Amino acid sequence: MSQSYYEVLGVTQSASFDDIKRAFRVKAKACHPDYHPDDPEAEKKFKEINEAYEVLKDEQKRAAYDRYGHDAFVNGMNGGNGGFGQGFGGFDFGGAGFENIFDEVFSAFGGGRRRGGPQTTRGDDLRYNLEIDLAEAYTGLKKNIQVENYVKCEKCDGQGGKNLTTCPTCNGRGHVQTRQGFFVMETECPVCHGRGKTVKDPCPDCKGTGRIRKKRTLEVNIPAGVDTGVRMRLSGEGDAAMNGGEAGDLYVFISVKEHPIFKRDGADLYCEVPVPMTTAALGGEILVPTMDGKGEKVKIKAGLQTGAQTKIKGKGMPVLRANSFGDLYVIFQVETPTNLNARQKELLQEFEQAGKNNQSACDDFLTKIKKIWQGL
Ligand SMILES: [Zn+2]
Ligand SMILES: [Zn+2]
Repeated sequence: MSQSYYEVLGVTQSASFDDIKRAFRVKAKACHPDYHPDDPEAEKKFKEINEAYEVLKDEQKRAAYDRYGHDAFVNGMNGGNGGFGQGFGGFDFGGAGFENIFDEVFSAFGGGRRRGGPQTTRGDDLRYNLEIDLAEAYTGLKKNIQVENYVKCEKCDGQGGKNLTTCPTCNGRGHVQTRQGFFVMETECPVCHGRGKTVKDPCPDCKGTGRIRKKRTLEVNIPAGVDTGVRMRLSGEGDAAMNGGEAGDLYVFISVKEHPIFKRDGADLYCEVPVPMTTAALGGEILVPTMDGKGEKVKIKAGLQTGAQTKIKGKGMPVLRANSFGDLYVIFQVETPTNLNARQKELLQEFEQAGKNNQSACDDFLTKIKKIWQGL
């Protein structure tokens, strides 16, 4: 090819990707073999346009082309410039759907096309399980956690040592291309692990990895209202990357312990409160526990039954990152007295006698059962 790829597409060297794409579409259509059957000149031109576009549409290949020209893609066949161009060599550029195949192959391996230059791998994300109790979830708090993970080596500032040289295996690109049958895969360089550089004098502290394991104390700011399953991200507190890349994140997974009194459902709380039989029968007032520790006086109407509920508005849990509270549902349990003394027994017997003419739920129930028996 005597013309440069830019000339083939009729664009300048500073053309944007969109310009290149537009130019390619116009040019490719103009000399498409379908419109020019049996025209070897048009076919040749069509192949040239496709070849140019294949290089210029890819940031990485375009950069290599700008630097090395066509040589980048010819020598690459023999590994001279690090494997570039293998993807073009035997390809039939006239094929429809070519672009799609390429895109799929790239996205299937390593999350899409790489953007220029060497890549540094990111450090691992870490998980820390933190159990707190309901009172802590209610107030929110700052908590110190102990972690041991990889941090950047201070001695070499994460560089792994002195005298960095361009990796000979990938020529500083950080990745290599390998052929698998018809397709060409891009993989991380096995020697420099994507860094594009190797270290001549490895740092003695980190043995050239740029990171060391360290025990640390981190402060976690737990907001009020957290619940089991909430995870908090401590950005950059995960493992340091090998060779100075970006550190991962640390995720604190919260779980809230069961409370002996309160059951939680989102921001609402449920609480079973025992009521003395006499209070249930005569009515009165009882003190219901609340998470704020103050308690709440609740009026009891005469004749309260077990299972009756009442709602205390705003006495539930705080809603996470909102200025509001859930409600507290109180479920009453009427207590039957046990271990009665003689006087109490006497009074209750008296009570029973005095109430002989009162229609109670029990009497009602018995009447119903008798009717069923008679019906049989
Ligand atoms: Zn070091
Ligand atoms: Zn390398």
